[in-house]
Amino acid sequence: MASEPLLEPVTAVAGVGPARARLLEKLGVATVDDLLRYAPRRYVDARRQVRVADLVDGQLATVVGVTVETERRPTRTAGLWLARAVVADDAGGRLELVFFARGKDGQKPRHVPLPAAVGERVVVSGVARRRRDGSWFMQQPEVEPLRAAGVHTGRLVPEYGLTAGLTQRTMRRIVRAALDGLIGDAGEMLPAELRQRYGLLPRAEALRQLHFPDSVAMLAAARRRLAFEELLLLRAAVSRLGRAGGSGKAAALPPPGALVQAWFERLPFSPTAAQRRAAEEIERDLRRSVPMRRLLQGDVGSGKTLVAAYALLRAVEAGGQAALLAPSEILAAQHARTLRGWFEPLGVRVHLLTASTPPAERRKALADLAVGKPVVAVGTHALLGPSVRFRSLVVLVVDEQHRFGVRQRNALAAGPAPPHLLVVSATPIPRTLAMCLYGDLDVSVLDELPPGRLPVDTRWVRPARREEVYEFVRRRVEAGEQAYVVFPSIGDGDDEDADEDTALLPAAEKLANGILRGVRVGVLHGRQPPQDQEKVMRRFCEGDVQVLMATSVIEVGVDVPRASVIVIEGADRFGLAQLHQLRGRVGRDGRQAYCFLIADPATDAARRRLQAIRRTTDGFALAAADLELRGPGELLGVRQAGLPDLSPLALAADRGVLEAVDEAARTWLAEAAAEPERHAALWTAVQRRFGIGASPALPGV
Ligand code: ADP
Ligand code: MG
Repeated sequence: MASEPLLEPVTAVAGVGPARARLLEKLGVATVDDLLRYAPRRYVDARRQVRVADLVDGQLATVVGVTVETERRPTRTAGLWLARAVVADDAGGRLELVFFARGKDGQKPRHVPLPAAVGERVVVSGVARRRRDGSWFMQQPEVEPLRAAGVHTGRLVPEYGLTAGLTQRTMRRIVRAALDGLIGDAGEMLPAELRQRYGLLPRAEALRQLHFPDSVAMLAAARRRLAFEELLLLRAAVSRLGRAGGSGKAAALPPPGALVQAWFERLPFSPTAAQRRAAEEIERDLRRSVPMRRLLQGDVGSGKTLVAAYALLRAVEAGGQAALLAPSEILAAQHARTLRGWFEPLGVRVHLLTASTPPAERRKALADLAVGKPVVAVGTHALLGPSVRFRSLVVLVVDEQHRFGVRQRNALAAGPAPPHLLVVSATPIPRTLAMCLYGDLDVSVLDELPPGRLPVDTRWVRPARREEVYEFVRRRVEAGEQAYVVFPSIGDGDDEDADEDTALLPAAEKLANGILRGVRVGVLHGRQPPQDQEKVMRRFCEGDVQVLMATSVIEVGVDVPRASVIVIEGADRFGLAQLHQLRGRVGRDGRQAYCFLIADPATDAARRRLQAIRRTTDGFALAAADLELRGPGELLGVRQAGLPDLSPLALAADRGVLEAVDEAARTWLAEAAAEPERHAALWTAVQRRFGIGASPALPGV
């Protein structure tokens, strides 16, 4: 059998050594296939090829010409060098290309890039600028020799999400090399008849068009095909799990008793009708020996934690164990705090198990779990580690489960008897997508917010008026309230679009020394050690930190009811669903809350998203709007955001794809499950993507 080039580590690609492989690893790219599925975040349309005479000021264009002059010299700023080239087109037009390079400590930079030698024919793509004297120039354009053009210029040029040390040019070159090395059908797992039925490109073609599309239409077709693939494989994996757990019997719980009663009586509020209904639906499941497989959906702030807590407490009351799996340390710690507040007065133990749990505490928790004490364990994926053994796991709640690999859920579910499973999702995903992802889960919906909530006053503010926003924040803080400020990037060199106002680290420093001087500010992002994250979060919860400046790590689940203002910098760089989740951090009690979206959107689509979020507070309506807004025009220039950690390709799926996947799952997938030998390519792909074995009858997978 031929080797499997797609499964080889990325170092198999020309131009990727161990150092670059480590950088790619940060992007979640380990294998050649990962690289090929790493979708560009957006595309620059550099297809408009013109002569210099036809350039338009401020517009992106491509010019073909010959380099006639080059120069490198220092500027007046120490360490900053300038490189210039002049390109002449066939009609005698002259275009100046300007590049800057910075050295360390005022020294000459090691490398002053000048991408073209005199006499070379080149293709240049960039934003054209006109000087007063009528001459034309481009700053930092992309340049390629004409003989090897078509990667960085003159086409729909891909731009990727990067990490420090990796440039767009490098990334494009690597991907190009990987595509050039593709052989055969590129691991095609969808048979031709299925592709034909749903109008899907072959895999190899889709991968090529995803990165270097020939047209917007081909890009759309590529995304459609790959979204279909992602969703169908996920659905196949989930259906495998369902079958695996479905055979065993779960513990059928006796009716609720005094413990649950006591809990209800002590609650500071009365549950909403929707919360009661969901609890009743769960109750019916728990009384049966068929394992519960239920999805609890509810908009931000609808009170899902309470319903989840009900299921957990029911397990403990019946003498069993319960686990709550959270997607981050921040959320695990928060859930532990909430549950301890509710349960410890009742004498119910709540253990927190994360990577930063102190050893003594951890040993105690593990011992309790191993001997079968009726406790609640809250944790991150640390809860899934090999040393964690549940003696009698009766209820498993997975919060925000789409952030977990299917593989991990599998590990937890592999006890003697399958636990009752409750999946909690704050993301108001449309029902079609939910069905795609979860297949046959039953669904409970919290379609009501606790009483007395005021809609968040949402305003869209241009960057020029940012100061007024922070003045407002300062006044609210002085009045005893708290605020979040959210940034699209960290600003430690990872994001080339970042500037000092939209990147967390520089902006936090500027604000703390400027307009927010004297305010107690905390900084939170995902690259801090977990202990630091937890500390900042705790200080914010306790009111010690007044303004929390963060990346979108606070996007989902964080519950600090006293916070009443959220400022979102670079709001046009977040997707609708994300903006909605972020806004959901405030307005969680009866007070009027405010959300400021600071943005100067570059595209119509971004503008429409901001308008939608300003007008609508209903997450489900927004999710629907999100799908509508993703017309073909949206494919260019917009980062697809939404459900975190689900492949952006899957997220880009429109309603048509979702429905097609659902239909294919019910028909073709069912057949593929019945005859795994005939559909080995599919199950092999599922195995590789999710680590879930096909049927034992299949040798070698
Ligand atoms: P989410 O659904 O976003 O996870 P949470 O469970 O965090 O929402 O609840 C949001 C806030 O509403 C919390 O501060 C919680 O204590 C409060 N809450 C939950 N249920 C009710 C209720 N029935 N009445 C009043 N407040 C409630
Ligand atoms: Mg929550």
